[in-house]
Amino acid sequence: MSASPETALVNGAPTSIWQSVKRTLRGKCPNCGNGKIWKSYIKQVDNCNSCQADLGKLRADDGPAWLTILLVGHIWAPLLVIVTRYQFPMWLLFPSLLLGATLSCLAILPISKAIFLGAIWKTQAGDHPEEWTP
Ligand SMILES: [Zn+2]
Repeated sequence: MSASPETALVNGAPTSIWQSVKRTLRGKCPNCGNGKIWKSYIKQVDNCNSCQADLGKLRADDGPAWLTILLVGHIWAPLLVIVTRYQFPMWLLFPSLLLGATLSCLAILPISKAIFLGAIWKTQAGDHPEEWTP
């Protein structure tokens, strides 16, 4: 016997933002912690296959990109300063830094998006556009 989507939303609901974020960081539904959240690299599924939560409505917009750039910048800027003190050949330095920074972005972006989706799910941010004032 399966619960209705409304019942499932209440039964497995996270008790805190951190619990919701931990679930999304594991690639699981922020509501129940069982179903998968990712359809592809950083595209979330429309509905949880376990509790039918409407995950497709979550919109992180530019938040994950902002967090990724913030983190990658703070990692790579000091490295850039350090490596420019030494006489590395430019043909080796520039491609290495570019490749490293690109791979760092690709690795951190899903983590950033998971953090935002978990927080947005628990806070229900953006669920009440009629309450927004221009
Ligand atoms: Zn779920």
